[in-house]
Amino acid sequence: MTEPLSFEKSRPNVHAPRLPDAGVAAAEVGDVLPPELLRSQAPALPRLSEPEVMRHYSRLASMNYSISEQFYPLGSCTMKYNPVANEAAASLPGFTTLHPYQDEETVQGALELMWRLEQALCAVVGVDRVTLQPAAGAHGEWTALRMIQAFHRSRGEARTEVLVPDSAHGTNPASAALSGFQVVEVASGPDGRISLADLEAKLSSRVAALMLTNPNTLGLFEREILDIAELVHNTGAKLYYDGANLNALMGVCRPGDMGFDAVHMNLHKTFTTPHGGGGPGAGPVGVKADLVPFLPTPTVERTNGHLKLDFKRPQSIGRVRSFYGNFGMLVRAYTYIVAMGGDGLTQASMDAVLSANYLRKRVEGLLDLPHEGPCMHEFVASARNLAPNGIKALDVAKGLLERDFYAPTIYFPLVVPEAIMVEPTETESKPTLDAFADAIAEIVIEAKEDPEKLHHEPHSLPVGRLDEVATARRINAYLQGQSEDPILRWKPVRD
Ligand SMILES: *Cc1c(COP(=O)(O)O)cnc(C)c1O
Repeated sequence: MTEPLSFEKSRPNVHAPRLPDAGVAAAEVGDVLPPELLRSQAPALPRLSEPEVMRHYSRLASMNYSISEQFYPLGSCTMKYNPVANEAAASLPGFTTLHPYQDEETVQGALELMWRLEQALCAVVGVDRVTLQPAAGAHGEWTALRMIQAFHRSRGEARTEVLVPDSAHGTNPASAALSGFQVVEVASGPDGRISLADLEAKLSSRVAALMLTNPNTLGLFEREILDIAELVHNTGAKLYYDGANLNALMGVCRPGDMGFDAVHMNLHKTFTTPHGGGGPGAGPVGVKADLVPFLPTPTVERTNGHLKLDFKRPQSIGRVRSFYGNFGMLVRAYTYIVAMGGDGLTQASMDAVLSANYLRKRVEGLLDLPHEGPCMHEFVASARNLAPNGIKALDVAKGLLERDFYAPTIYFPLVVPEAIMVEPTETESKPTLDAFADAIAEIVIEAKEDPEKLHHEPHSLPVGRLDEVATARRINAYLQGQSEDPILRWKPVRD
């Protein structure tokens, strides 16, 4: 790193900016807080002048890579442009000054927004009701599985298994396991789609649900979805749709119409609310009528234009998030939907699929394409054709970083060796897609002519090639008690 930590730059005699007096006397603090909770020493915070602090953070920000400057071809992640209009709406004082404990009579506008967003999402995915509470996609999966579990229990059935295809996103088996289900894997066939024979073999009266995503994580549409739905429903199980990425479908077809009973959506992917960096997301869940009684409380109800929160839902799985979910994300997603309109959302899907197919065609012959096209909103290539040159998917990704692109998702899905998963989204222009394809072409030439050079990229970024092997070895040794704590954070030197 070229920028030292603020702690390292700290100078003991610098005066901090002067702040207005807090108006609380030390004696009063002692009255309200127990003495054992009061500090005896000032915290060891760095001391820098105001311009030094500002320059420190500006320099760090300039080392960052972000969607506002560059392209993220991150498969299964839908990193599209976040429209500034969303931010303008979310920062309206009527939204930013709300308090979650306000009486519902005083927040009718906020409730109306939630109600309308629910209607819009119901229309996009074809379900009867939506809960906006879950804070992320994985949280939505978990919420939906709890509802499915409650549904089966209400009928006196203790179903213990959840089926998950081998190409599924890792959160699917994790959510099922966290809900107390046993995860049973279903194999993909050679065409990258779920094997109906294996599905039939694994279906039984023990199965609570099949979790699917369509198009699947290889970017392929499961053409036999109606047969799959019938097989699953015939055994009394529910069909769950991982709708983290709806970018191929909006306005074209709906999970509800394909026979899915529950769907989660990632507002921070398809609906342009910012994501990455662990910031707040939102993973609403839509359900068909059968599952509606089990929705988390409260639901937002509207009668004759008056809105209220309904807490009296005896079969509800309860609250899954404090208050009403990440409200700011709901405002952004609603703004996006209204700005786009139904036609705009349909166009976005068409363009996303076109972009993916265009890029897929452009990398044909450069990387392996293990599955036949066309693809939907993303495609999976493989770097295994570069194995004879000693080049792996990781090297291609690092070469892209060197050429000022974010790296695509690599080594996922697990069913493709040396996977490179690309999702360009609809918000990227043809020149950007071409520049990306040109960069891949350049990397493939370098892989063949000078693989050693590629092994050492990137050179031009604040952080170069990390020694991942040594890191893994060291962390493993630490976990097995054979070495000291790896140094993962800065600690002050105590004298
Ligand atoms: C991103 C993603 C998830 C998980 O969403 P989070 O908001 O990261 O929890 C689940 N499934 C698929 C297919 C995804 O792409």
